[in-house]
Amino acid sequence: MVLPYPYKIYDDVTQIILPDLQSMGVKGVLLDIDGTLMRTKDKAPEDRVFEWINTLKQNGILVYVLSNNKHPERVKALAESIGAEWTYLAHKPKKAGFYNAAKSLGLEHCEIAVVGDQIFTDMFGAARCGMKGLIVNSLDTYLWYYYPRHLLEIIFWREKRK
Ligand SMILES: [Mg+2]
Repeated sequence: MVLPYPYKIYDDVTQIILPDLQSMGVKGVLLDIDGTLMRTKDKAPEDRVFEWINTLKQNGILVYVLSNNKHPERVKALAESIGAEWTYLAHKPKKAGFYNAAKSLGLEHCEIAVVGDQIFTDMFGAARCGMKGLIVNSLDTYLWYYYPRHLLEIIFWREKRK
């Protein structure tokens, strides 16, 4: 049975540094938006997040935006601002969105890291598809449903035994 453990846990996306990705054999990242790159209530990420993405891209890491957000204009605007292909309403943890993203990047599943803030969508999907789930502490802790959701996530909030 596939369980939704993350492959690795980080406080924040900007801590996911290039040597880490390289040591994991990662050549591409699927980025979640809400709670990961920026707060759901924000219109754009902070500069440090753009800098992080640029550093990855400049070093040959491919970037794809895979979001469950139902507003195409929000996902498109973010993806275009970082020069990435994108999918909105991805229905994570369903496999189809992950598979399509892998195909679009031209990478094997084992070469892809899924960066997100949720266990049961981002990390579960990654685990189901043989990708490496990198979880970050959510930026959305102000949302009323953050704590109930996080309570359900807690038993899986530890790194998968490798
Ligand atoms: Mg999220």
